[in-house]
Amino acid sequence: MELITKPLLEGKNIFLTGGSRGIGKAAVLELAKNGANVAFTYVSSESGAKDTEAKIKEINPNAKVFYYKMDVKNSKEVNEVAEKAIADMERIDVVVNNAGILRDGLIYQMTDDQWDEVIQTHLTGTFYVCRAFLEEFIVNKGGKFVNISSICHVGSAGQANYSAAKAGIIGFSKALAKEYGYKNIYCNVIVPGYFKTELTDANASEMIVEQFVRLSMLQREGKPEEFAKAVVFLASGLSDFVNGDVLYVTGGLDTIPPKDSKRKKK
Ligand code: NDP
Repeated sequence: MELITKPLLEGKNIFLTGGSRGIGKAAVLELAKNGANVAFTYVSSESGAKDTEAKIKEINPNAKVFYYKMDVKNSKEVNEVAEKAIADMERIDVVVNNAGILRDGLIYQMTDDQWDEVIQTHLTGTFYVCRAFLEEFIVNKGGKFVNISSICHVGSAGQANYSAAKAGIIGFSKALAKEYGYKNIYCNVIVPGYFKTELTDANASEMIVEQFVRLSMLQREGKPEEFAKAVVFLASGLSDFVNGDVLYVTGGLDTIPPKDSKRKKK
């Protein structure tokens, strides 16, 4: 007898920041593959967003897809886009905070702008987006936030801004789960290890990538679709007793390489 199983995310409406490339794009595609409708954002790459939309339609022609230009650093823009996404999708069940940048530098040389842009994009942006969707989750009597941190939250030389922002996301997410968990609102964190994307490619030297691989128990980089499966887990009912928790998707990387003297200059 043929076993008929329902897709894990059938009928779920998911909003994700930074779906135009990288591991965010992989997540959007995997979510759609599992039956979800998706709304996602980009900030500069409209062509990337169009490509994501086209790929979703190939994977799941029935999926509802919307995309919006939105800078997570701008609270007004975040509120407007959240309102629009809720109206377009009619309901949002899951919000994934994935958008990110790097502006690396040693602390002594780090400019105010480098510091501020990274903190605002990752930490403040995550706060803005969660705040903008909280009312929707409260009205719906539940919802799931999935926030993306990094293994660099343990402290990465040359990335003090990024390390601080990514550690901050963990504290923020646990606080949100404590404030709203009793309302069936979830806020979990994924800590990715090393995945090859434009972000990491432009910033890590070959030497540092080799070190990341050597330090991981699986002795390899992650594949974007492996990150994406963790997002599906935390977005779905499979994780209904997981809240305020941190899921490591690192291939067993529990430390990061020391200072990279060959770090690429931007
Ligand atoms: P990419 O550089 O490949 O993609 C970044 C995404 O974020 C793009 O969609 C970009 O949009 C969007 N974005 C950037 N700035 C903003 C902004 N101000 N407002 C809204 N969207 C913005 O990065 P990755 O896929 O590598 O990383 C995604 C997330 O995963 C980040 O939070 C990163 O810190 C985290 N991470 C990644 C790891 C990895 O190994 N790749 C490891 C650990 C964590 P656009 O295309 O329009 O510019």
